[in-house]
Amino acid sequence: MTESDVIVVGAGFAGLKAARTLVAAGRSVVVLEGKDRVGGRVKHAELAGRAVDIGGQWVGAGHEVLRAEAARLGIETYAQYETGRTVMQMLGKLVQFTGTVPKMPVLALLELALLQRKWQRDMKTLPPDAPWSAPKAREWDGQTLESWIVRNLRTAAAREFARLVPRGAWAAEARQVSYLWFLDAVRSGTGLDYLMNIEGGGLEAKFKGGMHQIARRLAEELGDRVRLNAPVTKIAQDADGVRVSAGGQDYRARFAVVAAPPGPIARIDFEPHLPASRDGLHQRMPMGAIIKAVAAYKEPFWRTKGFSGQVATDDDVVGLVMEDWQEGTTPMLLCFIEGRHALEMSPVGKQARKEKVLASLVRFFGAEAADCIGYEDNDWLLEPYSHGYVGSMGPGTMTRFGHALREPCGRVHWAGTETETQWAGYIEGAMRSGVRAAQEVLARHNQ
Ligand SMILES: Cc1cc2nc3c(=O)[nH]c(=O)nc-3n(C[C@H](O)[C@H](O)[C@H](O)COP(=O)(O)OP(=O)(O)OC[C@H]3O[C@@H](n4cnc5c(N)ncnc54)[C@H](O)[C@@H]3O)c2cc1C
Repeated sequence: MTESDVIVVGAGFAGLKAARTLVAAGRSVVVLEGKDRVGGRVKHAELAGRAVDIGGQWVGAGHEVLRAEAARLGIETYAQYETGRTVMQMLGKLVQFTGTVPKMPVLALLELALLQRKWQRDMKTLPPDAPWSAPKAREWDGQTLESWIVRNLRTAAAREFARLVPRGAWAAEARQVSYLWFLDAVRSGTGLDYLMNIEGGGLEAKFKGGMHQIARRLAEELGDRVRLNAPVTKIAQDADGVRVSAGGQDYRARFAVVAAPPGPIARIDFEPHLPASRDGLHQRMPMGAIIKAVAAYKEPFWRTKGFSGQVATDDDVVGLVMEDWQEGTTPMLLCFIEGRHALEMSPVGKQARKEKVLASLVRFFGAEAADCIGYEDNDWLLEPYSHGYVGSMGPGTMTRFGHALREPCGRVHWAGTETETQWAGYIEGAMRSGVRAAQEVLARHNQ
């Protein structure tokens, strides 16, 4: 049996950062990863002669831990291109506009401005480490974002726009998430502007060579501490330590850090049984549905035609498009199939998805979009040990079970982007959660 100070479950950005922090503090660590690769929800594919991220890719403004790690590894960023016209398809109409204000009826724009102010005001009342204790927490957690939208917004365009926010940001439908969880998730990313802006927002930049290489490099530094193809099936604990079963082997340690999304954790057998509040969280945090598709082209034809390459839609198979091109590399359009569209497109297979995606791109940018030289997509719904985008909460979950997000259960500590108070859902949130969980364990170790 392998013995160490700490076992980390999961080699995504949270687990890798936790392991690195523990090793730097002189602890012996084993990282058990279910897949045959590291990176978790960050993954790459080879397409038309270049590597491309088919999972997490952007680094946002203020993502300091991620940026510092990349800088240490000598990996540079490049800015997201945003010059030119943006395409928006809403309520059946295709429009183009420049700048950050979408082309909409004036009444709808006015309503959206008021909405933004209201959300900012409501967010300010949420304590970051305990949103479930906010003065209006029960009222807000008792409704979905959809029921809030219907009650508070009057114009069809403003309603549709508000529904785009959870779909674009977490691949979740407004009727699926609680208003309290939604507000807290927006707060954790500093506000609505951050979600919508490129410069100064969550889509500010990408890494030259791709996000995936950061995970690979972190894992290389950890060496044979990282065990691939080691899916954890059971975690047993007693007064002395934990015993973790993975891939037909048992591992012992004083503590465990579980750095996986809530859905996959629900499949692990815990002995003794987890407290009802923690177990309840795993049952009530579904993963957002997403398929990321990439189309490669000989030329960045959209730029020549005056497009920024950005598209947002309310009811198309492709919900969001962003471009990806640096001089000397193959130009690509990154397309996101989200929410109910992802659920519908998951069973149809890659070839059928390719046809649908290209038909949408032709409608957005013109006939040149049909001449793609390569297509790849990743159906995150079927990705083992991930099952989707980010875990969200429906009504009644945050106020009843939210307190269990970071509470250790005996010798088991929790990491993963869903557990973080700032930048939850982002890679930055994952890394911060890894540092936090490692520090919790170190504090106990040192006692
Ligand atoms: C398509 C897509 C696009 C995204 N775009 C962005 C973006 O541009 N910018 C951004 O900041 N974020 C983005 N995200 C979100 C970001 O990728 C995640 O927030 C982040 O990677 C989560 O890291 P994590 O370590 O918390 O979890 P994960 O990356 O999910 O890592 C958990 C690890 O645990 C492993 N695991 C699970 N169960 C077990 C088990 N039983 N035994 C062993 N191992 C197990 C998994 O295999 C996985 O490797 C995107 C996500 C997706 C899917």
